[in-house]
Amino acid sequence: MRLLRFDGGRVGVVQGDRVFDVTDAAGVDPKLWPPVGMVQLVADFASRRGAIAAAVASAESRRIADVSIETPIPWPNKLVAFPANYRAHAAEMATDYTASTRGFFLKSVSSLSGAGQPIVLPEPLGREIHHEGELAVVIGRRGRHIPRARALDHVFGYACLLDITVRGLDVERTMRKSYDTFTPVGPWITTADEVGDPSGLRLRLWVGDELRQDAHTRDLVLDVPGMIEMAASVLTLEPGDVIATGTPEGVGPITAGDTVTVEIERVGRMSVAVVQGEGGSNLALPRA
Ligand code: MN
Repeated sequence: MRLLRFDGGRVGVVQGDRVFDVTDAAGVDPKLWPPVGMVQLVADFASRRGAIAAAVASAESRRIADVSIETPIPWPNKLVAFPANYRAHAAEMATDYTASTRGFFLKSVSSLSGAGQPIVLPEPLGREIHHEGELAVVIGRRGRHIPRARALDHVFGYACLLDITVRGLDVERTMRKSYDTFTPVGPWITTADEVGDPSGLRLRLWVGDELRQDAHTRDLVLDVPGMIEMAASVLTLEPGDVIATGTPEGVGPITAGDTVTVEIERVGRMSVAVVQGEGGSNLALPRA
């Protein structure tokens, strides 16, 4: 099942180029604040799935192109991210470590945005801002100390993710990657049963028509079960938590006017515009 969030917190099921509104069957109140309806749906999905599937048969549908797509889970407990998780990317960044030896970091959950919203660049900082195309894992079941043999039982689904990054190792990763709109996720969540083995997915990223990244998740240094095992060795993974699994080689700059498209086999295809915003420099990142 492909779950889309759209038009002010409504929940839809995607089939082909159409979205079926199943907000009521999903038990989600679009006006709820904080917006944790999707977290609750992920946690309760086993008991809701039948009603949602039944609702599709009678729900009104619209063309996906006619709705405003929002990030699937706007208020997760955590956004966990792995650096240097493809050897060729670690080489292009000249890091002397990989995710296996460096571990994970956290991005601000307020950096999450959806396929219908642009990436808003800060004012020029005198350094490049890069695309990182990544597979997103959405956690479905709470767990701590999860052995890799049972790790995939904790996965709800997958999505496309962009880990937008201000380059430069001189300031903290969290700050460079946590600007509002620096983590587009979507366009929807594809449930794990439709994706199968997460080590069997081709990932591609284009800027405009130019193919920049073309890789395969079999080349992850730390695979999806390994990432879940590592994260859960430290913290409790909660339903709705998102894991950014790391980007392959081919990262590069984005500028205002670009369109960034990421496509992951059996998961989805997401295109996001890039626009120029105001502000964003500070004492750690002085204006250029
Ligand atoms: Mn990344």
